[in-house]
Amino acid sequence: MADVNVVVIGAGPGGYAAAFLAADLGLKTALVDPEINPGGVCVYRGCIPSKALLHVAKLLGEAKHADAWGVSFGAPKIDLTKLRGFKDSVVKRLTGGTGLLAKSRKVQYIQGRAELLDANTLNIKLVAGGEQKLTFDHAIVATGSVPAIPASLKLDDPRVMDSTSALDLPDIPTTMLVVGGGYIGLELGSVYAALGSAVSVVEMTDGLLPGADRDLVDVLAKSIAKSMKNVWLKTSVTKMTAEKAGIKVTFDNQPEQVFDRVLVAVGRRPNASVPGLDRLRVQVDRRGFILHDDQLRTDEPSIFAIGDVAGEPMLAHKASHEGRTAVEVIAGHKARFEPRAIPAVVFTDPELAWAGLTEAQAQQAGIAVTVAKFPWAASGRALTLDRADGLTKLIVDPKTERILGVGLVGPGAGELIAEGVLAIEMGANATDLKLSIHPHPTLSETLMESAEVFFGQSTHVYKPKR
Ligand code: FAD
Ligand code: NAD
Repeated sequence: MADVNVVVIGAGPGGYAAAFLAADLGLKTALVDPEINPGGVCVYRGCIPSKALLHVAKLLGEAKHADAWGVSFGAPKIDLTKLRGFKDSVVKRLTGGTGLLAKSRKVQYIQGRAELLDANTLNIKLVAGGEQKLTFDHAIVATGSVPAIPASLKLDDPRVMDSTSALDLPDIPTTMLVVGGGYIGLELGSVYAALGSAVSVVEMTDGLLPGADRDLVDVLAKSIAKSMKNVWLKTSVTKMTAEKAGIKVTFDNQPEQVFDRVLVAVGRRPNASVPGLDRLRVQVDRRGFILHDDQLRTDEPSIFAIGDVAGEPMLAHKASHEGRTAVEVIAGHKARFEPRAIPAVVFTDPELAWAGLTEAQAQQAGIAVTVAKFPWAASGRALTLDRADGLTKLIVDPKTERILGVGLVGPGAGELIAEGVLAIEMGANATDLKLSIHPHPTLSETLMESAEVFFGQSTHVYKPKR
């Protein structure tokens, strides 16, 4: 008999959600990770610390804007030690909680690095020293991802940071270059800009957040243009050299400049480098993602793969749902990972959120859709917040009137998108959204009113008859 029914390698939001469900279903479960408690990248150096800092950034932005409402606070005094302390306390509290949850469920938490000896045996190099062998019926590989730093952007100098070192908040640099106008570049760039750095963003493609809906990105780009010193699109860094005065950066179409710090945020790569995995039948694709079927099973029947290491989108909630599905499959339940919508949220100010089909995807795939937009300038709640710049957008099947996609930009978009996900998953149509009474005055009404726009009559949007 094996030591455990299930061992989960990696205790991020995918791994710990999987281990907790396995234990709840009565499976003997072990969870292996080098950190002292479960949490992974998301809780220790990703989603959670970045959102704690973005919360403070939002407050700084609002305090500045309050001048327009007749309230002046003066220039903020920033105590970096205290700010770091707040962020670290959030991480400590959450990981302490996950540690307790593991204990209460009798999940065997092993602090160490796992390597696979064969399809049913692990060797774990323990953080405390020594090694431990563990036999298992099933293993779930949930080893996540790491920052991708191309050779051209590698420089062995602490002033060149990745997301992990940027989250440490070493100081507030006077000038900072962010390479990559994606999720991390815009979120962490916004934090440093709010704290007072002059931030320049360099993005290789012709727009910020490639892949996101352009109507939504346009709104965010306007606000980013105000908060950041420069946004250089269609621009690449060709060389970086460390100088006493800073990091000298050469671009392909901008004059050379020296920055106090550089944040490289050009994507993440899957971490499938678990020693021994390559000796099994597990297949890895060209980009390094572990291949699996819709039950998360790899080509090695005892091994499952979930989360960032198992494919895009590299998001915590996708990892958790995959983890829970893999465990259900192991427990013999009829389960598959087949979501209609995985929401994406960029936690900038304004926030940007979308779920399901985008207008561009519909166009590329030749799917006929009707797009209904509700501008937040027509929302009473948005005006009370002095945030008329937002937008709510529905992508609707014109025949069935089903909601296929939802996009939002504006404060709170990340919370509002959950209604869109539910609508898409439940197969709701525009009438369902229109007839569901939404509380007033709230930003959620923009979802209801965009459904009204779809039908050509919305209380707050007048469209003259042709
Ligand atoms: P991870 O969280 O990456 O955890 C993998 C764990 O496996 C790690 O602890 C690692 O040490 C461990 N491990 C690796 N190899 C071994 C081994 N051989 N043995 C044992 N353990 C091993 N996503 C969101 O949805 N929302 C956000 O707001 C968000 N913000 C982010 C902000 C930043 C700055 C970053 C970097 C990422 C952010 N993400 C966000 C992405 C999110 O962090 C990932 O999608 C998520 O953490 C993936 O979870 P996972 O379970 O696949 O693995
Ligand atoms: P990203 O893929 O979101 O953005 C990388 C950006 O860098 C892209 O716009 C890309 O075109 C650009 N780029 C690539 N090479 C470049 C170069 N040489 N010069 C200039 N620009 C270049 O990647 P990220 O921001 O590093 O984040 C990694 C992943 O982590 C995200 O894709 C996401 O899955 C996850 N994440 C999610 C959240 C969230 O959910 N709020 C937050 C942070 C990270």
